[in-house]
Amino acid sequence: MNRIARVALPIPLREPFDYRIPDSLADQVRPGVQVRVPFGPSKRIGWVVEITDHSPHPKLRELDAIIPDSAEIQPDLLKLLEWTADYYLCGIGEVIESAVPKAVRNRKVRSVRWVRITSEGASGDPSGSSASARQKVLEHLRQQDHPVPLRKLIESCAVSDSPVKTLARRGLIEIFDALPAQFGTPESGETLAENSWITPPFEPNPEQVVAIDAISETVEKKQYRTFLLHGVTGSGKTEVYIRAVQQALDQGLGALVLVPEIALTPQAIERFTERLGTVAVLHSMLPDSERAVHYERLRRGEVRIALGARSAVFAPVPDLGIIIVDESHETSYKQENSPRYHARDVAVMRAHQLGIPCVLGSATPSMESLENAKTGRYQKIILSERTNGRPLATIEVIDRRIEKKSVGGGGLLSQRLIERIRETLDRDEQVLLFLNRRGFARNLHCLNCGHDLRCHQCDIPLTYHKSKSRSQCNYCGEYKPIPDQCPECHFHGMQQRSPGTERIEESLVQLFPGVQVDRLDRDTVTSAKRMAAILQRFKEGQTQILVGTQMVAKGHDIPGVTLVGVLDADIALGLPDFRSAERTAQLLCQVAGRAGRGDRPGRVVLQTMQPEHYALGCASRQNLDQLLVEETAIRKLLRYPPHGHLARILCEDEDEHKAQESARTLAEAMKECGLDSVKILGPAPAPLERLRGRFRQHLLLKSDHRGPLRQVASTALKTKPRWASTRITLDIDPQNLL
Ligand code: ADP
Ligand code: ZN
Repeated sequence: MNRIARVALPIPLREPFDYRIPDSLADQVRPGVQVRVPFGPSKRIGWVVEITDHSPHPKLRELDAIIPDSAEIQPDLLKLLEWTADYYLCGIGEVIESAVPKAVRNRKVRSVRWVRITSEGASGDPSGSSASARQKVLEHLRQQDHPVPLRKLIESCAVSDSPVKTLARRGLIEIFDALPAQFGTPESGETLAENSWITPPFEPNPEQVVAIDAISETVEKKQYRTFLLHGVTGSGKTEVYIRAVQQALDQGLGALVLVPEIALTPQAIERFTERLGTVAVLHSMLPDSERAVHYERLRRGEVRIALGARSAVFAPVPDLGIIIVDESHETSYKQENSPRYHARDVAVMRAHQLGIPCVLGSATPSMESLENAKTGRYQKIILSERTNGRPLATIEVIDRRIEKKSVGGGGLLSQRLIERIRETLDRDEQVLLFLNRRGFARNLHCLNCGHDLRCHQCDIPLTYHKSKSRSQCNYCGEYKPIPDQCPECHFHGMQQRSPGTERIEESLVQLFPGVQVDRLDRDTVTSAKRMAAILQRFKEGQTQILVGTQMVAKGHDIPGVTLVGVLDADIALGLPDFRSAERTAQLLCQVAGRAGRGDRPGRVVLQTMQPEHYALGCASRQNLDQLLVEETAIRKLLRYPPHGHLARILCEDEDEHKAQESARTLAEAMKECGLDSVKILGPAPAPLERLRGRFRQHLLLKSDHRGPLRQVASTALKTKPRWASTRITLDIDPQNLL
């Protein structure tokens, strides 16, 4: 009897498709290989995920062919991808698509020819031959300390390939195939086994030693355990990661290090490569072709360390020995389109499946992680002090309701803060200002009729960008020219409200003539390069004041910064999301952690309208204890994570009624499941009621247990909504409820 291959296709359908395996391919088709299959009238490329001998479908078509030279997915990774599809109730094909770079899927990663000099060629007389072309090639290669791509060699020496071939025949040079260069640095394509361990100019401190020993022991024993490395900002977590990774390498194992997208700067990459040798970088800002080369080098075992953002959790590292998730509280680890996986949770599962340790590092762990540490599921390790013995910054809270006197920035630069900035600049130190709102002003508002200029697709206020002289939507990007009168009542006098980073920058330039001010936000940072350049100028002291959004808050280690100002600490507190206090406390602690990392003490000024709020209290004491107490009470009562599980179903339609009616059909179908342990809330309009022209209704599912929650959620997915035009999305463990 014919065997059957279950094939995952890149479509958002949960079940793989079954195909008969022709006899001729019987011994080559196995899970993880890429195959071509008939699909409707055409052909599709997919991945075999399982071999079976029965199928519920009576008439199966035959699998076409195996794709030659495809990037086979190893069984352990396939198992992880399947778990992800199953847990998040999405298609395995979709998961594979986000795990494997496009160029790898399309087999576009080809080896190129490289040339290197042999020891014979490097020494002694150039072969006795005086032919100048050969001479030129040899001379050129002698000046390189690594192999050169053949094409480049021919180009730089302006020769044909015949002298190169002759030299190779005589054993003076060697031509070989390897993957093309990575990341602009010339790469040999050789196996990089010997890592250049550079000793740091310090010994790990006692707390670091405890952490390193605990983690190393599990690496050595190949034992699953999740560590929550809770270390204040500047406590030397990276050193712990590096030593743990080194331990894995010493044992011939690979390592996976995840960092948030935004923190994957050239400096961060340098910090790892300097100590550990070559790492493969998987970053969405890299062109897909480059990412694909890094991916391939990992898969072939040429590089043993993967360093990357969210999707790197699926990096094909053979013999993985440890997984590290830095800044593990970051929300960017959750993918906000399908498949909606959380890389932190997938990382823990991957470690569990492989029986290896996983380290979740953070100065401000999430409530979920703290709870897991409390119940003993995670082992907590604490780094309580900064490495240089510096105290954490002193915090000064400015109540904007009392301290009304402002000197600029549309009311956001208080007199007190300006004084602090001036003192800091006088001491030749640097200032970091944080405002989580970009543009010049959040909106334009009519003083006569109260009309707000809004995006007609998203129904949110448009952000006024002065430099581009237009108003633009932060969600869909649509923009409008700035009206000189109110579009509703024609009153001349539209007022700007809620100033943004652009406005602050302008005010600072006026207030401090001659001082270099720069801005870091999504409007000034259009590429990884731009971001690196702005940070580099700041680090070198060419810029004295840097203003920015969340981008400035995270991970940067700039020793000259002694003053951090938070201009409007309350922005995120007002969001209708149960995590808003947690997010605010985390973000403020992170920003505060940027001050005083060098040898001079730091100071933080927090401007707020709600100084009594516990999220502000956490920030001013720089620990999350109070948050834990207050939030635990609320979340236990309302059964929110970590004291309950959550899923969200979003129904979007261009027609408001259709969105409502579709949501209602799903709600009814779910109620019919009769699982009382799952609470179904809604349908109700989502906080962002309209986005990109679609009306949004949502349903929240709450339960103490994951099993029934997922059962009810998958019923919703199988239910046909009242209207076919309604787009349905399911989010398991949602991070974003807007
Ligand atoms: P974190 O990631 O916890 O915020 P970092 O890893 O960036 O902290 O460490 C802060 C600084 O302290 C870095 O410049 C690092 O090189 C340095 N450092 C780390 N460990 C030690 C140590 N044991 N002694 C002295 N300096 C250290
Ligand atoms: Zn919009």
